[in-house]
Amino acid sequence: MVAELDRLEGVYRNILKNNGVETFDARATLVDAHTVALSTGETKTAKHILVATGGWPARPDIPGAELAITSNEIFHLDELPKSILIVGGGFIACEFACIMNGLGAKTTQFYRGAQVLRGFDDEARGLVSEEMIQSGVDLHLGTNVLEMKKVEDGIWVKATNGSEHVFDQVMFATGRAPNSANLGLEDLGISLDRSGAIEVDAYSQTAVPSVYAIGDVTNRINLTPVAIREGMAFVETVFKGNPTPVDHDLVPSAVFTQPELGTVGLSEEAARDQEPIEVYCTSFKPMQSAFAGNSNRVMMKLVVSQSSRKVLGCHIVAPQAGEMIQLAGIAVKMGATKEDFDRVVAVHPTMSEEIVTMRTPVRRG
Ligand code: NDP
Repeated sequence: MVAELDRLEGVYRNILKNNGVETFDARATLVDAHTVALSTGETKTAKHILVATGGWPARPDIPGAELAITSNEIFHLDELPKSILIVGGGFIACEFACIMNGLGAKTTQFYRGAQVLRGFDDEARGLVSEEMIQSGVDLHLGTNVLEMKKVEDGIWVKATNGSEHVFDQVMFATGRAPNSANLGLEDLGISLDRSGAIEVDAYSQTAVPSVYAIGDVTNRINLTPVAIREGMAFVETVFKGNPTPVDHDLVPSAVFTQPELGTVGLSEEAARDQEPIEVYCTSFKPMQSAFAGNSNRVMMKLVVSQSSRKVLGCHIVAPQAGEMIQLAGIAVKMGATKEDFDRVVAVHPTMSEEIVTMRTPVRRG
């Protein structure tokens, strides 16, 4: 795993080198609107400065928190733990719970809320957690860690529900914070919001006109392809004389749990708060896996505006849902209506054919 990460880093370093980019392996601090001081003692000046320092795992402030690993360290474990507790209910917690469970570690997950993947469509997150539990993840909702201690055979954990357990490893997946500390930003008059994110406008420009910021350090939509788009828009704006705002609307994404959850647009709950909707939804055991004796359910859902007929949200829980939502995302981004979806002939037998064959709404409101 580490070897693969090192290989990938090498690939990226080569891309930079081949494109004439000079890199410095040093910490940098902004000292004025056009100058960066490096920890090596050198200073560099430039017409424009782009801050893209990303995020860093956040740890809850509890006794023994330092005993836990985060997604930064999990790739560096020497061996697969026999048992692991994963704390959190977001992308990283759910993905790693599935990975560790799939690799054969006895996997427990604590999430403080009532259902994992807060913010996603309720029915979709319900099905993902049901399938995770079915596949062996010991998921405890409404549960958090109170205290941890090193003991002879691992890490002792006391939970908010009073239970006590010992795990080989504990991993915090409790969010990532913008990596904006000690960059000299505030001294320059660049403001950070309450989460520590650098405040930027639609062109990723900060309050200091020569300084821009993109990616997780701005805490807009924290996804790699979004950061890449922000970078492209920065290049258009600053170097090509073509001011380009970043389009953060209708960004498709996928949670790589088992099964995967692919989503674009509004959840049923968010859409209902906005306007009257119709909901088309089907959940079934796909033929291809049923024949193989696998009983996992999948789900396809469209959230449709009653007035414009536009598909406001598409939610898919299924193997390869990430692949499916990339394509469905094109139609939704184009403003397709439910009738546009219906005009497309099904590809049979597939799972995703359901997305064009749902005729009757399951709910209106
Ligand atoms: P998320 O913000 O998605 O989830 C954080 C989780 O930790 C939430 O369930 C939150 O609970 C919980 N939490 C926060 N603070 C505490 C605390 N003090 N005690 C207990 N639980 C706590 O962050 P992740 O770390 O999962 O992921 C970071 C970012 O990486 C995300 O923005 C995501 O977009 C991105 N990512 C994307 C992937 C993808 O595209 N497939 C894969 C991996 C990461 P609550 O809901 O109650 O606030």
